[in-house]
Amino acid sequence: MSRSGIGYDLHRLAAGRKLVLGGIEVPFEKGPVGHSDGDALAHAICDALLGAAGLGDIGTHFPDTDPKWKDAHSLRLLEHVRSLLEERRLRIMNLDAIVITERPKLGPHFSAMREALAQALGIEASRINLKAKTNEGVGAVGRGEAIAAQAIATLES
Ligand code: MG
Repeated sequence: MSRSGIGYDLHRLAAGRKLVLGGIEVPFEKGPVGHSDGDALAHAICDALLGAAGLGDIGTHFPDTDPKWKDAHSLRLLEHVRSLLEERRLRIMNLDAIVITERPKLGPHFSAMREALAQALGIEASRINLKAKTNEGVGAVGRGEAIAAQAIATLES
């Protein structure tokens, strides 16, 4: 049986913070605000995987209030989701994701992101597809005040 799930995330951006995306640091003058590393792509993928598995969402598994996950690197969250899938004998068939931001250009970083995400999830990088879009200058993302990501995952049992 095959099962699909979707995920979405958005983080506000502020000057002088590290931009962590897809498990790697991308050189940029702004980064996400928040108590985690603010990796919008990894968080959207977590939610897509949890959704496909019927396991709720990222807030259920990694609450802000749990010191265990405070300041956790988002790849650790993906590793935990991977263990939840493995316990249920669910295999990741593929992931597809979109990162929406005006800047920086992400294409040159996709290969490193796919490798980092694939390693955390225990799958081949060829099962992960990443895309970048701008928001055409519209709204908070268009003004560079936020970064957003969407993901879809397909699992097989
Ligand atoms: Mg998030």
